[in-house]
Amino acid sequence: MLGRLVLGKVGKGVSCSVANCGNPATRSLSVQNLSSTSLKVNTDGRRAYLCDDHFKVWKKETKKSREMDRLRF
Ligand SMILES: [Zn+2]
Repeated sequence: MLGRLVLGKVGKGVSCSVANCGNPATRSLSVQNLSSTSLKVNTDGRRAYLCDDHFKVWKKETKKSREMDRLRF
């Protein structure tokens, strides 16, 4: 369902990378996967961390582009 997207596990003590969110992160994904969404993440690396709430937002916002990806092939 998530295709080529690689979701990583997040260790304890990591908080969500979204600006103004301090919730514990449960998912990590590459910053590249966030560039097409409205989520603003504070990260200087290649990985961004999302809490459950923001992961839902991200899933919602990327649904369309993922469907377009599928149509392209
Ligand atoms: Zn968050």
